Amino acid sequence: MQIGFIGLGNMGAPMAANLAAAGHDVRGFDLAAPCPAGVTAAATAAAAAEAAEVVITMLPNGEILRAVAAQVIPAMAPGAVLCDCSTVDVESARAVAAQAVAAGLDALDAPVSGGVGGAAAGTLTFMVGGSEAGFAAVAPLFEIMGAKAVHCGGAGAGQSAKICNNMILGVTMVATCEAFALADKLGLDRARLYDVVSTSSGQSWTVTSYCPAPGVGPTSPADNGYQPGFAAELMLKDLTLSQAAAEMADADTPAGRLATDLYRRFVEDEGGRGRDFSALLPRFAARGRNDG
Ligand code: NAD
Repeated sequence: MQIGFIGLGNMGAPMAANLAAAGHDVRGFDLAAPCPAGVTAAATAAAAAEAAEVVITMLPNGEILRAVAAQVIPAMAPGAVLCDCSTVDVESARAVAAQAVAAGLDALDAPVSGGVGGAAAGTLTFMVGGSEAGFAAVAPLFEIMGAKAVHCGGAGAGQSAKICNNMILGVTMVATCEAFALADKLGLDRARLYDVVSTSSGQSWTVTSYCPAPGVGPTSPADNGYQPGFAAELMLKDLTLSQAAAEMADADTPAGRLATDLYRRFVEDEGGRGRDFSALLPRFAARGRNDG
């Protein structure tokens, strides 16, 4: 397949390299990052897109996606698919899809989970919104770049699934870190708490797969000085998107809002930027009830 790939950063570069290694003809474009091995550099985003059957974008945010879409949509061949894999707001995903469809193209929003490791290993999970035909056309590429692709519904459904999942993750991590910090103050050993919670009703992925307490449970970023992993500022981005979506849809998400506020303080005022999102545990452990 002829593929245009725009946005060759931490995620995009290994995803594009995997497509090229599988034998596809990949033309790449990035404002700053170099093309990975096997990917042919295009001079502009439009040049990467013009002969492509599928154009994949992997960009920082919705504003940049809208700007890139305005360049590539007029250049794309009729019937081609614009597949955005970035994490962006639901409104931008829907707006870009509507523009693409109006121009005679197909469009998918297909954000991922699995991080840089999953992108390199080709084991990402894709959450996909858009038409059946678009999903069927890009499914062979999802198989190369990932381990699982779920067709969630129409335009914007992929982004909706991604931010709902990550709102659960953010809120659950806050609760897990709070509980371990409370246990400390109650004189309860962290390993004993893990033993109980990992097989009790408080169990969650944040406890059994990504425990925020160093030396407890499976190896996680906590065992590596809270180096990310999944950085606190990326969790803040996704929680902020969840609250923008809740605002748009008039949904009541008080715990999501609280988690967003906590991560914003942690990242912007408390040195959390560049640390793993599970580093809320030492933050809570160092505080008392009246610390505001
Ligand atoms: P990144 O910043 O490493 O890469 C983004 C790339 O886009 C950069 O190389 C940048 O130069 C390029 N770019 C910006 N504006 C451009 C333009 N106008 N034209 C062409 N290229 C442009 O970010 P990343 O970590 O690769 O993340 C990409 C997306 O994937 C984000 O939306 C992020 O939220 C999402 N995501 C990231 C992770 C992760 O662990 N890094 C996990 C899941 C989802």
